[in-house]
Amino acid sequence: MSRLSLCPVCRKAVALPAELRPESFPFCTERCRLVDLGKWFDGDYVLAEPISPDNHEAIEEVLAARQGEG
Ligand SMILES: [Zn+2]
Repeated sequence: MSRLSLCPVCRKAVALPAELRPESFPFCTERCRLVDLGKWFDGDYVLAEPISPDNHEAIEEVLAARQGEG
C-alpha cells in the first residue's frame, strides 16, 4: 500500500511519513498551501458549507431581538 496523500490543490501525490512530507503538508508545496489559503480569502469555500440549523436559529434570534428593540 502506498503511503501517499493527494495535494488538495494540484492533486499531486504527497508523502505521508513525517520524515518525507513537506512542511506545507497536506499540500505538496508552500505554493499550493498559499493557493488554498487564497481560495478562502476569495470566498470560494464560503458557500461550500451551508449554514447549520443551529446557526440559522441563532441568526433568527438575533434578528427577532433587533426587531423588538425598534
Ligand atoms: Zn500541490
